[in-house]
Amino acid sequence: MSADTTLMPIPGPIDPVPVPRPTTPRADGRQELVGLSKDGIRAALEAAGLEPRQAKLRAKQLWHWIYNRGVTDFSLMTDIAKAQQPWLAERFTIARPGVVEAQVSTDGTRKWLLKTHDGHDFEMVFIPDADRGTLCVSSQVGCTLNCRFCHTGTMRLVRNLEPHEIVGQVMLARDALGEWPSQPEGRMLTNIVMMGMGEPLYNFDNVRDALKIVMDGDGLGLSKRRITLSTSGVVPMMERCGDEIGVNLAVSLHAVTKEIRDEIVPLNRKYGIEELLQACADYPGANNARRITFEYVMLKDKNDSDEHARELVRLIRHYRLPAKVNLIPFNPWPGAPYECSTPERIRAFSNIIFEAGISAPVRTPRGRDIDAACGQLKTAAEKKRRSELDAERAG
Ligand code: SAH
Ligand code: SF4
Repeated sequence: MSADTTLMPIPGPIDPVPVPRPTTPRADGRQELVGLSKDGIRAALEAAGLEPRQAKLRAKQLWHWIYNRGVTDFSLMTDIAKAQQPWLAERFTIARPGVVEAQVSTDGTRKWLLKTHDGHDFEMVFIPDADRGTLCVSSQVGCTLNCRFCHTGTMRLVRNLEPHEIVGQVMLARDALGEWPSQPEGRMLTNIVMMGMGEPLYNFDNVRDALKIVMDGDGLGLSKRRITLSTSGVVPMMERCGDEIGVNLAVSLHAVTKEIRDEIVPLNRKYGIEELLQACADYPGANNARRITFEYVMLKDKNDSDEHARELVRLIRHYRLPAKVNLIPFNPWPGAPYECSTPERIRAFSNIIFEAGISAPVRTPRGRDIDAACGQLKTAAEKKRRSELDAERAG
């Protein structure tokens, strides 16, 4: 087994459409059930030799155990014949991503560094608030899009996460929060944002299949209204995102002029601001009750002037967008080419938008003590492992 088959080098800064790579099968040859649709489970059981009627019944039972009860061990599935449990265990698995490191911040933010079965690290963050708990889920290992302020974009290798690795993040969070069986009331994990590592619309099929399971009423049961997908602006996939997934949309705008957006979000050279905002205006399901979120990272002396704020208001009005704006203080990382705008500048910027009648909250940084920002846990862990290695060598 070679992990290299699932890795894709970053072909270039502007046009890095990832080529789908074949999946690396599990080393033990068993098939993963998490991430398959109900029908997919049935088909897998049939392919393994069960009769169609039995496969259908077992698929329904397995679905319930996997997604409603959070069970990972076939021997705990009491309505499946004792003799069949080892038969299933030999052929199938119900896995979670591996945990390399789990941290809890003083403000309650939790962060995990996770590992795929073929050895690639990615991240997940849980942010508890008074009235909700938001899980920030990754869609890829790394990202091909090289946004200049984003640390994930500097990672050399990229691999799409499989549906089971995406759903698996939500299930792992439920394990950690003790939220099995799935229940509609009193959950800590109430919201999901596809804002971890990667560009979800460059891994569309896997993200869609995973979110379908997350939204399934007999599955994990999270409403599409509580799920937000963030894209840096993959215009040709936005309509399908609204039609086929139907979740809330967040768009990483970050700049209002071609010159600046070309610099900080290189994908802009392919899909420009006008095209992007038109796709937002056409986004299926967006309306005043379900607004599109524009994310705007505050970079000192780059995109943060009063003039930029006024232009942002003009664009939102011009395209008649049901919009809210999220102002994100830039989270610096070693070697980053930008600094964060001053708090005064961020407030002034926010006020201009707010006075135009558009909501423009400043996102408070969470989990600063555990580096709970994009791409940062992975780097911290790598640094630590390197320093441990150095220490070992020195010793
Ligand atoms: N690729 C998608 C989703 C993942 S990034 C996208 O770009 O939208 C999630 C959000 O974190 C994006 O808005 C991104 O711009 C922002 N982000 C990335 N690096 C950041 C940093 N260093 N400081 C603050 N926000 C950052
Ligand atoms: Fe990729 Fe999003 Fe980071 Fe850009 S901001 S490099 S699209 S993860």
